[in-house]
Amino acid sequence: MTSPVWHPFHQHGLGEPIPLVTHAEGAAIYTADGRRIIDAISSWWVTTHGHCHPRIMSAIREQTERLDQLIFAGWTHEPAENLAAELVRITPRPLEYVFFSDSGSTSVEVALKMALGYFHNRGEPRHRIIVLEHSYHGDTIGGMSVGARGVFNSAYAPLLFDVETIPFPSEGAEQATLDALDRACAKGDAAAFIVEPLILGAGGMLIYSAKVLGQMRTICESHGVLFIADEVMTAWGRTGSLLACAQANIVPDILCLSKGLTGGSLPLAVTMASPAIFAAHYSTDRTLQFFHSSSYTANPIACAAANANLVIWREEPVLERISELSKRQAAGLERLSAHPIIINPRQLGTIIAVDVTAREDGYLSELGPRLKATFTYKDILLRPLGNTVYVMPPYCIDESDLAQVHDAIIAVVDKL
Ligand SMILES: *Cc1c(COP(=O)(O)O)cnc(C)c1O
Repeated sequence: MTSPVWHPFHQHGLGEPIPLVTHAEGAAIYTADGRRIIDAISSWWVTTHGHCHPRIMSAIREQTERLDQLIFAGWTHEPAENLAAELVRITPRPLEYVFFSDSGSTSVEVALKMALGYFHNRGEPRHRIIVLEHSYHGDTIGGMSVGARGVFNSAYAPLLFDVETIPFPSEGAEQATLDALDRACAKGDAAAFIVEPLILGAGGMLIYSAKVLGQMRTICESHGVLFIADEVMTAWGRTGSLLACAQANIVPDILCLSKGLTGGSLPLAVTMASPAIFAAHYSTDRTLQFFHSSSYTANPIACAAANANLVIWREEPVLERISELSKRQAAGLERLSAHPIIINPRQLGTIIAVDVTAREDGYLSELGPRLKATFTYKDILLRPLGNTVYVMPPYCIDESDLAQVHDAIIAVVDKL
């Protein structure tokens, strides 16, 4: 081990190989030892239109000629102004204010602080956050606090703040979720409910209905509890529509966007808020302003990349590509589900997922890493969540690459 690099979510002690990647294009990444790898998880859910999309790359190059970075407290620049205006235009009213940060986790931190600030500044003592079982909202202390507890955060558990957790709305058990949410809201100390709309990503690609999402929104509204939609993974077409919330015809009070915001090219996030939340921080009194910033807030180059992403959405047939990909994914899922040890086939838009049953119990935890290694060996980038194998490719993936991904899953599962 000669590299000083400490990798995320990686056990260096196992000595697993770490491929060196030199370049990428479309749905493929290329390694220093000459391999072409199909990126079947969009480099962990960020790459939407494909790697190194020419329009995004050229927007980045152009912006580097003009303005690299600027303090954003009390200063502004065109890429951020244009981006904010366009985000307000393409998202439903009343999401009218745009707060910038630089990752999905920070967009969630900002959302939580906005909700707490809203009640604090109005003199209402509400501080409880309601969360859904199996959720994931990022790896910062706040993000972990509102996410599922487990091996990923047990070392930090004593520092995580208490939340109210309601059960996941599994099919047939939706009423229990709605009742629990209603009870939690009725206690009177809840500031906000934070939720991943329609599909819980890191929790295992768990899908629930748009109807329940709509009902949860209604319950929160009736109790004056703010509704935070964490669309860090679900936005930008992943679920078949620009926003997952659109499928339930709802608008959250606060919306978190990140991963696909720049098409997956540069780190950037926004937290969008309704006028009521902005108004609670609006005053001539400086102690009521929103106290959050990070050094690279609204970095101009990242904003330029996001503006190019929005041009692609306006000028290219993105939704058609998504619908075409969704159809091909459905066909692949049908093939996968015929396999005797594959269960729970599920799909939402461009995402498909299955669970692989293992024969021996103790095996289960080792299944994910074993599958991952075998896929990499077959030149496919897949990273199962435990025994859940999912495919979430960039929208530009062609028919033969996608078929190769589906084939590889069947071949790997065949050997179990
Ligand atoms: C990935 C993710 C986050 C965290 O985003 P980062 O950019 O990795 O900090 C938050 N919420 C959801 C739903 C995510 O999928």
